Amino acid sequence: MNSRPIFPMDESYEEYIHDESQFSGSAQSISFPRSEEEICAVISEMREQQIPVTVQGGKTGIAGSGVPLGGHLMNVADCSRVLEYSETDGKYLLTVEPGLRLTELKQEMAKLGGPVHLFWPPEPTETSATVGGVAAAAASGICSYAYGGARQYFEAARVVLADGTVRDIRCGDHFLKVNGEQLDELDAFLGSEGMLGVFSALTLRLIPCPAEQWGIAFFFENRQDAWRFADELQSDPVRSEEAQVTAAEYIDGNSIRLVESKKELLTKLGSIPPIDPTFDAMIYLEIAGEEAGIESAAEILMERATQFGSDPDRAWAVSGEKEIESLRTFRHAVPETANLIVEENHRSNAEITKLSTDISFEGKSFTQIMNWYEECLKDLRPAHCIFGHIGENHLHCNLFPKNSSEQQQCEAWMSWMLQESAGLGGCVVTENGVGKLKRRWLPSDNALISRMRKLKEIYDPTNFWNPGNMF
Ligand SMILES: Cc1cc2nc3c(=O)[nH]c(=O)nc-3n(C[C@H](O)[C@H](O)[C@H](O)COP(=O)(O)OP(=O)(O)OC[C@H]3O[C@@H](n4cnc5c(N)ncnc54)[C@H](O)[C@@H]3O)c2cc1C
Repeated sequence: MNSRPIFPMDESYEEYIHDESQFSGSAQSISFPRSEEEICAVISEMREQQIPVTVQGGKTGIAGSGVPLGGHLMNVADCSRVLEYSETDGKYLLTVEPGLRLTELKQEMAKLGGPVHLFWPPEPTETSATVGGVAAAAASGICSYAYGGARQYFEAARVVLADGTVRDIRCGDHFLKVNGEQLDELDAFLGSEGMLGVFSALTLRLIPCPAEQWGIAFFFENRQDAWRFADELQSDPVRSEEAQVTAAEYIDGNSIRLVESKKELLTKLGSIPPIDPTFDAMIYLEIAGEEAGIESAAEILMERATQFGSDPDRAWAVSGEKEIESLRTFRHAVPETANLIVEENHRSNAEITKLSTDISFEGKSFTQIMNWYEECLKDLRPAHCIFGHIGENHLHCNLFPKNSSEQQQCEAWMSWMLQESAGLGGCVVTENGVGKLKRRWLPSDNALISRMRKLKEIYDPTNFWNPGNMF
């Protein structure tokens, strides 16, 4: 068997012992396998020595789930070939190795050729993430408003298990009974944070690109007006045979000011005009479909936004992939800037880590949820910002403690907040995972944790994979 070197850990690998959350760990050794065969070789050696393995992809996770707590660290980002493409009965399937980054995936999809241009909807905004990381986090993309979450865009996976066997798992082929629930085996692995095995290949379901796409950013001087506009989008989504809203994102005034304050550090934002700091909220929408349908949808949205106090002359409206990419760059700059600030604060105090909610609330109005956030935040001193998906009220409230005492205060707030949100029917882990950072704040009766305990008994009873994630 072709084996890849396993290196003893030293300071030259320092960048691998933390992720974007600034949570830091340690490892005895590290490897960078470039194929399934090399993954198997590393696992076989670790199994013989009874050393647990933490799997890592692009290290863009924000819950510390790919950060090792001792043992061996296996970074699979170099295992990144495209393996197979097939097109049958209107199904477009692309099989890739897990380390393929989203930027590379995009280039590969453009090369597929043929009359139909294809894309993969569950792309998180961080494009250096890997396909394996997206599968393990069940991450979701900016267009989840129209296309839903990541799970439905995986057809199959190849997984290397702790005993060294390699399994092909296809959606709909095999079901498990876990805690009284019927669970598709593929679903069991998606979102499992690398705790059951390592993906060595993934088959993605691609879909045809819409004919046209527009992006519109609406600005509001009063955030409550933006919330009411979001309520209306939820109760009456602008959808027709010809076009639909595909992305609906909320960005609060604090987020806008945060990005403006760090703009000089984010070179990609060069072409974006400055935003008036008095704006209290922004709503970013994308509309996709046939041109005529998009035009009438945009008209309806413009009228509605005007009714809710947004000046249509100050809105940004663009069409075409390239221009939309620049507006998305602004949307992406929000979490990027939040992470940058956490990183800066972490440099002056190592206790400081990312503190961000990832809660979705189905069946509630946006205004109700935002009022609730504001009520929860009213006594918290450290700075914060809120942004995220309007669909299912899936918002990320980021906190920025600057010293140990503020960090402790914010951690206590997070713990309390997650309990409170569960009481309100919120799903407290939606796309960013639990990892090592959030496990201590999860309500003890959390269904995801209880399911994962059962799955660990089935697939990884010796706790070989990713020790310290979730529990
Ligand atoms: C600026 C910014 C914006 C972001 N925006 C979004 C967003 O819009 N939506 C969203 O959902 N997330 C977002 N994220 C979070 C992050 O990008 C995603 O969670 C992403 O899926 C992580 O992929 P990764 O390759 O970096 O994985 P890593 O961080 O390396 O690992 C994440 C998890 O995946 C596991 N893993 C990695 N590869 C494998 C494999 N081959 N087999 C088994 N397990 C594996 C790891 O063990 C770990 O548990 C954002 C992050 C940043 C920094």
